[in-house]
Amino acid sequence: MVKPHYDDDDDDKVLLPGQFKFKEWDCPGCDANNPVDPPVGHGDEVLCNYCGCDYQVIVSDELKVKFRAL
Ligand SMILES: [Zn+2]
Repeated sequence: MVKPHYDDDDDDKVLLPGQFKFKEWDCPGCDANNPVDPPVGHGDEVLCNYCGCDYQVIVSDELKVKFRAL
């Protein structure tokens, strides 16, 4: 599960895809859960700690997170 990272004092603000950040992600290749710190968002690259695959993060307008293999 990808969980959104919200600032506590900004609850009613609507997030744009470019502002959406998350602190953990599930690798599409091996299903491993990877924590990331600092949080990552659209356009960032993430590296799976388990299988070593590189992905670019893509956040859609509906704030759905996808990963594109690099
Ligand atoms: Zn992996």
